[in-house]
Amino acid sequence: MLNIIIFGPPGCGKGTQSSLIIDKYNLNHLSTGDVFRKNIKEKSRLGELAKKYMDHGKLVPDQVTIDMLNDEINNYKDSNGFIFDGFPRTIDQAKALDSLLSEKNEKISLILSLHVSEKELLKRLLLRGKDSGRVDDQSEEVILNRINIYKKQTLVLKDYYENSGYFFQINGEGKVNHITDDIFRVIDNYIE
Ligand code: ADP
Repeated sequence: MLNIIIFGPPGCGKGTQSSLIIDKYNLNHLSTGDVFRKNIKEKSRLGELAKKYMDHGKLVPDQVTIDMLNDEINNYKDSNGFIFDGFPRTIDQAKALDSLLSEKNEKISLILSLHVSEKELLKRLLLRGKDSGRVDDQSEEVILNRINIYKKQTLVLKDYYENSGYFFQINGEGKVNHITDDIFRVIDNYIE
């Protein structure tokens, strides 16, 4: 299996690049944000709980998120591999992912970290707020809160993964297809 974590701050292009990667390598996309938003739409109990955090740009509690991801993974039998998009976002989530995969005799193949400046992130998210109507992209305050939480709780994962030998930093600014080319190059190198 090819198990890829796509990593980076809100607005760095994780979702956009994930859909291109899953098409080319026939993987399953696991986006925690997408699963939460689906639950909010369906007004499930998980959705109601997640909404309270998401609307303010806060992280949904670890255990809720980990249980949800576990259920999602188990929905796929005979998968070629997964793209983890928006997960893990804390050290505890990273540890949970390691043990979840090792239970299946699997491991992380690659971590692709997309680098984008803060100014560019804010610009992209405000634009997405207008285009998509995503509640958490509509207020500058909520966006800045998400970026701050990323810096405080998620960025430490770079240290967690950096020396693993499968951590790759990619420039996330510029044309979408150029970024995709850089990503495909890293994945193809890994596969060979
Ligand atoms: P973005 O990366 O642009 O913020 P996402 O769709 O990945 O968008 O996440 C939207 C929101 O969903 C987050 O701000 C957070 O509230 C919640 N969320 C998503 N993934 C996680 C996670 N792994 N742990 C906790 N909360 C999460």
